[in-house]
Amino acid sequence: MFRPKFTRQYPEEKWIPPASYRGRPVLVQEDDGTERCVACALCSRVCPALAIEVQAGETAGEKERYPEKFEINMVRCIFCGFCEEVCPEEAIVMSDEYELVFSSQEEAIYGKDKLLVPKEKLKKRLEFLQEYR
Ligand code: SF4
Ligand code: SF4
Repeated sequence: MFRPKFTRQYPEEKWIPPASYRGRPVLVQEDDGTERCVACALCSRVCPALAIEVQAGETAGEKERYPEKFEINMVRCIFCGFCEEVCPEEAIVMSDEYELVFSSQEEAIYGKDKLLVPKEKLKKRLEFLQEYR
């Protein structure tokens, strides 16, 4: 009776995860709106759940390749973080988002419209990776 309460009044009271938390994987969006990803498909190869599908396109720019299509099936994803670990560009990172809701299998397939997150919003995770990776 006299101990402090640890119950969180979710969802009114949100939990702010630490930088080490592995929430849903997202793609880093640069300041100019482009994706950092170079479509090497290493993340797709390493994903144990076969959740990632990447199709490369060519650009005339310095980067040469970009992901024309990039999809993650969030029903399959097991939040292992292997995609983040293997990415040579720090283009896919584990975010702090843990609220995932779908009403169908199709809705759970996230394309670039849902995956791209501005790098400013991912600052905490990117700094964590630079320090501990
Ligand atoms: S976190 Fe793991 S399961 Fe999810 S997309 Fe990345 S490699 Fe695949
Ligand atoms: S997210 Fe990284 S590992 Fe995956 S295709 Fe893009 S650059 Fe390659």
